[in-house]
Amino acid sequence: MASILVIEDEQRIRESLATRLSERGHDVETVVNALEGIERAVSGAFDVVVLDLGLPDLDGVEALRMIRAVSEVPIVVATARDDEQDIIDVLNKGADDYVVKPYSADHLEARIRAVLRRSGDSNDSEIIVVGGLRLDPDSHEAILDGRNLDLTARAFDLLVYLASREGKLIGKRELLAEVWRQPYGGADKTVDVHLSWLRKELGETAAAPRYLHTKRGVGVRLVDPKR
Ligand code: CA
Repeated sequence: MASILVIEDEQRIRESLATRLSERGHDVETVVNALEGIERAVSGAFDVVVLDLGLPDLDGVEALRMIRAVSEVPIVVATARDDEQDIIDVLNKGADDYVVKPYSADHLEARIRAVLRRSGDSNDSEIIVVGGLRLDPDSHEAILDGRNLDLTARAFDLLVYLASREGKLIGKRELLAEVWRQPYGGADKTVDVHLSWLRKELGETAAAPRYLHTKRGVGVRLVDPKR
């Protein structure tokens, strides 16, 4: 159950979402324009915001940017634009996920759940230790046997995701959905490339693994090599 703000100018969509999401036990508030939406979104009263990109008073991408400037509230963008470049653009501007219109309330709710799960993860800023590996999600610091690792933000996120699930075999699809936020797939190679960077930084290879163990065609698990 979540407290959800829906910013949507189309009455039919707004009312249907309010009904369907309330039926599922969520607390839903709706607003019809961007300016009011921004004000409500940054109030701290909501677990997640659903933002229509096509609003009458302000471009939705601009609204997204304004909310992001002052608030970390998770945002799911609803867009009629299914152009990949547009979607990449809104994700880069701080949207946590997106749905392309027309979408069902079920589909939106699944995306909301995924976003809440992830934001729950990122709020959990405990330091993760696996063997000689120490990860601080707050400071984005990764240390291996006392040595600072030089990781890109995405490689760090990938490492945190794997390390916080120590010993669990994780598929590439899950990694694409949870770390890359591409729930509908994407290039498998992306994961492979990042895993290979990680291995290099961790001083190991796929043939002689220590922390990162790949099971071909299935996924990867991070383990404590001393165990
Ligand atoms: Ca609209």
